[in-house]
Amino acid sequence: MPHSSPPVSAACPCGRSGPLGKPLNLDACCGRFINNFEITPAPDAESLMRSRYSAFVLERDDYLLATWHASHRPPSISFDAGVKWLGLEVRQHRVLDACHAEVEFVARQKSPGSPALRLHERSRFVREGEGAGRWYYIDGDQL
Ligand SMILES: [Zn+2]
Repeated sequence: MPHSSPPVSAACPCGRSGPLGKPLNLDACCGRFINNFEITPAPDAESLMRSRYSAFVLERDDYLLATWHASHRPPSISFDAGVKWLGLEVRQHRVLDACHAEVEFVARQKSPGSPALRLHERSRFVREGEGAGRWYYIDGDQL
């Protein structure tokens, strides 16, 4: 399936800033996880959450499914036509233990003809697998 590829200099949709407070480029931020899930998994729950937000923006259902824990993974993901993602704000990254974490975030989106929506969620993540393992999204509570 063809993916729309923004220019490499594009700011990452997740809005993360680098050490100097400048927005990170997609390829320096979520892009390296989204494009190389097998080789470069997100190192922590917040990075995984951010990269999943960016994957929604980029309509990368392959990445969303690959990072969804098998116990809760839907059979497929469809993207609503015309939805514009307006931004992500990570409120809290809570590490519960070495293999469990929660991330609270607010994401904003706008569909044509509707007012902007605010999605406030606390998501649960688990780390599984051989070696250092990798993080997976389990599910979340709407807040
Ligand atoms: Zn990012």
